[in-house]
Order: sequence, then C-alpha cells, then structure tokens
Amino acid sequence: MPRPAPETIAVIGAGVSGCALAAQMRRLGHRGPLSLWETGRGAGGRAGTRRSRQDPLLAVDHGAPLLNITAEPAPELLEPLLAGGWIEPWSEPVAMLEGESRLNIGRPDALGIGRLYRGRAGMDQLSQGLLQLAGRDVHGHFGVLVRHLERTPAGRWQLRDAAGQLLAEADWLVLSGTLLAHPRSRLIFGWPEVPLERATRHLQDLQLAHALTTIAGIRFEARTNLLLVFAGEAAMPWRALPFRLVNFDAAAQQRWGLRRISIQPLEDGRCAVVAHSSHAFAADHLDVYGVGSAVARQLQLPLEEGREAEVITALGDALVQCLAPWIGGVDPEQAEPRLMRWAAAFPLPPGLPPSLTLCPSSRVGFCGDYIDGVGFARIEGALHSAEQLAADLLAAAPSDAPWRPARS
Ligand SMILES: Cc1cc2nc3c(=O)[nH]c(=O)nc-3n(C[C@H](O)[C@H](O)[C@H](O)COP(=O)(O)OP(=O)(O)OC[C@H]3O[C@@H](n4cnc5c(N)ncnc54)[C@H](O)[C@@H]3O)c2cc1C
Repeated sequence: MPRPAPETIAVIGAGVSGCALAAQMRRLGHRGPLSLWETGRGAGGRAGTRRSRQDPLLAVDHGAPLLNITAEPAPELLEPLLAGGWIEPWSEPVAMLEGESRLNIGRPDALGIGRLYRGRAGMDQLSQGLLQLAGRDVHGHFGVLVRHLERTPAGRWQLRDAAGQLLAEADWLVLSGTLLAHPRSRLIFGWPEVPLERATRHLQDLQLAHALTTIAGIRFEARTNLLLVFAGEAAMPWRALPFRLVNFDAAAQQRWGLRRISIQPLEDGRCAVVAHSSHAFAADHLDVYGVGSAVARQLQLPLEEGREAEVITALGDALVQCLAPWIGGVDPEQAEPRLMRWAAAFPLPPGLPPSLTLCPSSRVGFCGDYIDGVGFARIEGALHSAEQLAADLLAAAPSDAPWRPARS
C-alpha cells in the first residue's frame, strides 16, 4: 500500500514566532512539509532590519532593536542561536530621558531588564538563524500576502492571494500574526470580513470561535518610527554619545511625542538613528505610511509625499530638540529620512490564553507575542509561544502520522 502523504503545515508569517515554530518543529523531530508565507520581503517581521541591495553595508533595525530574557527557563532556541552566532549579548549603555531634560544613564525600562541580546549585524539575523535551524526543507515564500483562507470538504486548508489564486493547500494552518484573525484587517484593507472567521463560521468549533472572539478583542499600541542614516562627519557626534538607547519616561513622551531613540553605528562609519514615536503620536498619524511600507505596496496606495514629509519633519524636530543638550547641529534632512509605521507594534493585555492556541478539531494553531504568558508583547514571548505550539502540534498529531517523530 502506498504510504499516505505526510501531513503538511502552512505557517502564515515569518517573523520571530513563525520562524521559531519551524525551527522548533524540526528540533523536536518533525520531518513533514512546512511552508512559511510572508508578505514582507524577508524574514523578521517586527524584529526586522531595513537593508538595500544597492548599499550592502546598510542595516537599520526599524522595529525591535534588541530582545531581553526576563525569566527562566529561557526559550530553548536561544542557545542554538547564540552558538550559531546569529545573536549576541548586548551590553551597550541605556538611558532614560525625563520630561525636564534630565538624562539618567543606566536606568532601563521594561524592554531593558534581564539578559539583553541583539541580532549580530541586524535584528533580522535572529529570524534568519531560526530559518537556518529549521533546515532546507522549510519553504519560505516572501512578498506574498495571504488574503483568503478556505477549508475544503476534506478538511484541508487552502491559502489564496488577493486574486483568489491558490497559493498552497495544507492539513494544518498556523497564524503567527493576528492580521487574518483580527478586525483591524477590515480597517486597513477594507476587507468585508475577517478571513479566518469567514472560513470557519460553519465549522461549529467552539474552541476556535472562542479564540477568534478573544483575538478580536486585543488592542495594540502603534509606533511611527523615523529612520535616519548619518554619514561622514555628521555621524561622528552620534557615534560618540555615551549611550546607544534612550527611553522616554511618561512626561518626556508627552513633551516630545517620542518613546525611544536607538543609535546604531554601522560598520563603515555611518550611524543609523531610529526615533520611535510615542503611541499617542502614532495614533494621530496612522494614515501616513512610509514609502517602504509593505501594506502601502499591497494596497497600491498613492504616495502622499506631503503628508509623509510633515510627519518626518515633526519627528525630526522632536529628535533635535530633545537631544539638544547632548548633540548639536543635527539636520535630519541630510540623513535620508524615512518613515516606518507599525499600526500594531505591541499587543496590549489580555492576549490569547495558551489554552486556546491549538484548535485540533479545525487544525488551526496560533503563536506570536500576542499569546498570554512570560514575554507577552516581546520577542521572549514570541519565542516561548512558538516552542509551546510546536510541542502541542506534535502531541496532537495522530500517533501513526508519518510526520510525528517516533518516541524512543
Ligand atoms: C518599534 C518596535 C520596537 C520593539 N522593541 C522591542 C524590544 O526592544 N524588545 C522586544 O522584545 N520586543 C520589541 N518589540 C516587539 C517585537 O518586535 C515583537 O514582540 C516580535 O517581533 C513579534 O514577533 P511575532 O512573530 O510574534 O510577530 P511579527 O513580527 O508581527 O510577525 C508576524 C509576521 O506575519 C506576517 N503576516 C501577517 N499576516 C500575513 C498574511 N496574511 N500574509 C503574509 N504574511 C503575513 C507579517 O508581515 C509579519 O512579518 C518591538 C516592536 C516594535 C514594532
């Protein structure tokens, strides 16, 4: 008798959690087909790095600049990532800026406690390392927005693009981002329905319905980040600053509309500076997408250069003013300013409870930083949630499934 085809898994999203799921499935012995579907140009998601083919030494961490591990046991994937040289400990000075322009060096915020790490030569190396650990059999598809989900009468999952073209068919579906399960997709893309809700309404899977209602209730903090790259003499004062990360306390956020400044010296003497806006600032400018925005590209939105220029000027002015006591003569216009808008930068609690992350009857799994638990809304949580889902997926597979590793 021919062997049945191995059960297949389609993972939507190649941010930290999607890549970690693939890596952990392989580490636990899973050998069946696994595909990753990502709308961005490369892996990384909110822990991504802006790169340029024309400028190979450019690497700007436009989302998370670091990760912190706050609890034991640490995610299991941390050790192989360190051993493989994909991430490295981070021990640069961190400062807290207070509303009256007082700078407190050495005072971390919630994203700076515990053991700190960063991707070696860019945060996207964390996800690249995870893909490496996942091995060659994982098929990554980049620059593809999964728009429609459908269940076949045989209970398999179909992924389709905006034109309705079939992208993949799989036995299990994993959402590592909330987009296809959250009503914000209707606001952003004007979709009439939430794709996963639409595809599963008739299934009468109460656990999945509960998961979808919970996800629909999750709110997010937004960020609009200003990316600058200073070259030549203009880079020197930035590189000489006695800190690499500045967090803003509540009064400082209100005063300048900024939440954080990340200073990233580049190998060739240039210096990238990323000013993260406060949530309030980002919420007021959500309709302004950066020129590099994947969402704007997918929506084929016309570029509103005037609006973008206004936001760049506002964030640039705030940056110049708040750091004036420590660095003068800064001209953001000379530093190739760009915007990166994160409408859903940080999920706010409560997230999705771990008991709802695997819905075996519909063969749907969820992982990501929106899962409740240690590291919620951070990379630590994205890693933990993926490791847990990998173990749950393997435990849920029928014992004779060809992709389930043999128990020793
Ligand atoms: C500005 C900023 C600063 C941050 N700072 C820190 C920090 O200092 N420390 C820290 O620990 N964390 C930080 N974070 C949070 C951290 O980045 C996230 O917790 C982590 O990256 C989440 O990973 P994830 O895989 O869960 O989600 P994501 O990175 O969002 O990955 C989901 C992926 O799915 C893709 N996707 C979704 N839907 C579809 C679809 N339909 N089709 C195709 N692809 C799809 C998305 O493009 C995305 O790449 C920061 C985040 C931001 C935005």
